[in-house]
Amino acid sequence: MGIEIQSVSKRFGTFDALRDVSLSVAGGEFLALLGPSGSGKTTLLRIIAGLEFADRGSVLFEGEDVSDRSVRQRHVGFVFQHYALFKHMTVSRNIAFGLEVRPRSTRPSRGDIEGSVDRLLRLVQLEGLGGRYPTQLSGGQRQRVALARALAIEPRVLLLDEPFGALDAKVRKELRRWLRKLHDEMGITTVFVTHDQEEALELADRVVVMSKGKIEQVGQAQAVYDAPATPFVYDFLGNTN
Ligand code: ADP
Repeated sequence: MGIEIQSVSKRFGTFDALRDVSLSVAGGEFLALLGPSGSGKTTLLRIIAGLEFADRGSVLFEGEDVSDRSVRQRHVGFVFQHYALFKHMTVSRNIAFGLEVRPRSTRPSRGDIEGSVDRLLRLVQLEGLGGRYPTQLSGGQRQRVALARALAIEPRVLLLDEPFGALDAKVRKELRRWLRKLHDEMGITTVFVTHDQEEALELADRVVVMSKGKIEQVGQAQAVYDAPATPFVYDFLGNTN
């Protein structure tokens, strides 16, 4: 599903978190929002999700204006950096939650929930761990549960906010490869926030580089690295090398 962001601005108090940002995401694309801390990446992701609302501008899903719709009405899957799993629930219950918030028309019946949870556990390679609690899992496993819960919603868009930020380098690398493969199999439109340029290059079809609430450059990942369009992009990519 394609996303259009049209002239979106967002202010917190006197601080302009986003200044007149416009962007198109093609259906099935894997897009990375890259930039230093405080550049507005999370704010833009949350505005796409409906977790935050723009002061000005619009968000369109497949040509339809969803700017005033809630996160639930927008039907998106969101994965946070710190898992945000329900600690008192088993892995299976966490995933079942995603199934239960689906619109009534696509919600599995009570009897089908277990089978759907098992399919999702297989998809994220956590077979046999459905009875565990989040605290009994590693960070990488927890983030795969969070992803399974997001996918259980059958989202139109998958939005990930630094999902591997809390994990160590080796697990990050494994999960990146795995997420990209999963994306290629499912073809779901994905927007991924990161401040790690290597991660953006490895994962994304296109990269959006942000600074101070504005987009500095958008392009194919390799092209952005090969030909930074502004001094900011040049410095940002150069300095983090
Ligand atoms: P990034 O994801 O690129 O690190 P953010 O979008 O999280 O940037 O934040 C951009 C700026 O907006 C930050 O300086 C942050 O302090 C500010 N900000 C974000 N959310 C809020 C909020 N709810 N209230 C006040 N300020 C906020």
